[in-house]
Formats: sequence, C-alpha cells, structure tokens
Amino acid sequence: MTIRIDEEKVFRLIEERHPRAIVVNAPGGLQAQTRALTEKIREKYGVSCILVGDSCFGICDTVDEEVEKLDADMALHIGHNAAVSMVGDYTHLIDAVDDVSFDGVIEKAIPQLRSRRFEKVGLVTFSQHLHELKPVKERLEAAGFQVFLGKRNNLLLGGQVFGCDFSTAYPIRNEVDAFCFLGESEFHAVGLALSTGKPTYMLDPYLEEVVDMEEAAETRRKRAILSVYKALDAKVFGVITGLKEGQKMLGRTNWIVKRLGMHGRRVVQLAMRDITPERLAPLRDVDAFIQTDCPRMSIDGFTFDRPVLSIPQADALVRLLEGREIGEFLQRPKWIELTVGLIPRRK
Ligand code: SF4
Repeated sequence: MTIRIDEEKVFRLIEERHPRAIVVNAPGGLQAQTRALTEKIREKYGVSCILVGDSCFGICDTVDEEVEKLDADMALHIGHNAAVSMVGDYTHLIDAVDDVSFDGVIEKAIPQLRSRRFEKVGLVTFSQHLHELKPVKERLEAAGFQVFLGKRNNLLLGGQVFGCDFSTAYPIRNEVDAFCFLGESEFHAVGLALSTGKPTYMLDPYLEEVVDMEEAAETRRKRAILSVYKALDAKVFGVITGLKEGQKMLGRTNWIVKRLGMHGRRVVQLAMRDITPERLAPLRDVDAFIQTDCPRMSIDGFTFDRPVLSIPQADALVRLLEGREIGEFLQRPKWIELTVGLIPRRK
C-alpha cells in the first residue's frame, strides 16, 4: 500500500505562480510524505516551505491565515480531497490517493450483503479511496446489486463524506437497504450510520474485513443522548467557538448563547483551536460545555469529566429546554456547516 500525494499538481502550481514561500499542512498520517515533498520543493525550486505542526484532522484545518503571518504567498493543504480546488485566499487543496486494493474485501462483502437480503446498496468513501468508487460499483453491479452513489455538492465529490458532512449519502438513504463505506475509518463509517440511520458496513481493505457498524453507532448514539440529559441540569455553560478556519460558526454560537440565556443559564464564552480534557480542567465552575468545533470531539472523541456537546446535541438540548421531544438529532445531512471559503475544482 502506498499513499501518493499529487506532486505533479504541486509542481505545476509552483511553476505557474512562482511563490516566494509556501505554508504546508497535512494530517498526521501524511506527515512523513509531506515532509519529503517540502524537501523536494526546496531542492527543485529553491522555494522556502514551512510545514505547520499544529493538529490537522480535516478540511476545516486549513492554514490560509498563516500565510500572511509567515510572510508567505501560498498554502498547500494535503490529503483532504474535495469538490473544490482552493479554499480561502491562498490555499490549494492537494489530493492524496491510497492505492490499496478492495478486491479481497469486496469478495467477502458480497455474500454478507446477500445473506441480509440487501439488494440496493449505497457506496460511500472518504478522500483517499474516491477513485475506488467506480470499480467497486461495477463489481457489486456484476454481482446483482443495485448501487447508488450520492451526488456531488459544494464541498463533497460524488459518494464522498467528511466526518461531519454526510450530505451526499443522506438524500439517498431511503433509496438503499444499506450503505457500504469503503475504507478503514471507523470514524467515518460510524458517522455515516448515525447520520443516515441505515445499516452500514465498513469494508476495510487492509484487514479485508467487513464490519457491521450497528453496535459502535448505537454506543455513540446512547452516549450522545446521555450527555444532553446531563447538560440539562447544568447552571453554568461554557460555549466554545472553534478557532480553526473551517469551524468559526459565530452565528451558531450566538444562537446557542441566546437560547441558554432565555432559559436562565449562565454562559461563559470561550474560543479554542483544540478542545481537550486538560484545557477544560481549569474551568472548574463550568458545569457543561457546548462547542462549535469538530462534532466528533463530543461524539467519539475524548472522555471528558463534564458534558461537552456538539452542535446537534446543543440543538437537542434546546429542544428539551423548550419542552419538546429530543428527537433523532444526529440524523441530519451535516453536523456542522463548515466555514471554508470555496473555489470550485476545475479538473
Ligand atoms: S470538523 Fe468535520 S472536517 Fe473538521 S475534523 Fe471534524 S469531522 Fe473532520
């Protein structure tokens, strides 16, 4: 298996735009390849390349604002392929593709799907396996399944999801019997199951395993509901606005702060890049937190000592405060509205 960064695109951009200095960031799993790329750029073009060492989990984690701070004139965000070619003023998205084969796991998936009498299957994946959608679709169709791919939208390519955005799969949930998620990411597969409410299987090409996500999704769903009910008793809330470029949802923060105030809760407004138990520990007088950063932090991230609600959970809390039913608050196309500035992908 090799993950290949689209270096040709990087070199083309440098030759077209002649940057003086470039800021680069990439998720943890691509750090080694990205470092090698920065060295290549320096050797080949004599261009200064600064690799940003902060956490990078998703397309929300771009470093457009670092470009001016670091006196650079271009940014490269590696590995979160999307339906756009640029975000912000300076940042070019650079694809990374995993060449692992799905042949083995598909052979195992076919009898399992048949045994559950599924006939209509939705295919979904994340950035690194997008190129596998077409061959896997053809393979499943040859085995007699009707296969559905969700349509491309602003940020997502056809059949793609992010950990907080399932807006390709959600609209086709009623047309399919089950979803198959291509890849080894429980994070994405659980999110897909929770968002769509459909049977979901993770097809892991590395272990050649077909994993039914029902149990993992149900555990997270129950935990998310429990946190909402615990937060209902809180008197003091910390409302945290995300500082990452794609997570600055001030409108949502203000909406939540206003609702809490209307229901007699005290609010401390905070802002953070990364939310961890250690960072929340000094805020002892706060009974519960609501965060507009990454929803996955609340739903399957750290074990916090107090409730830390994501936006969908905050919506559920408001419903309870207003005397309404809690509802299936995780079943929605997007858990947050990413605030990245979009420039459509050309190719
Ligand atoms: S906010 Fe969305 S894109 Fe960003 S890390 Fe979380 S799940 Fe991924």
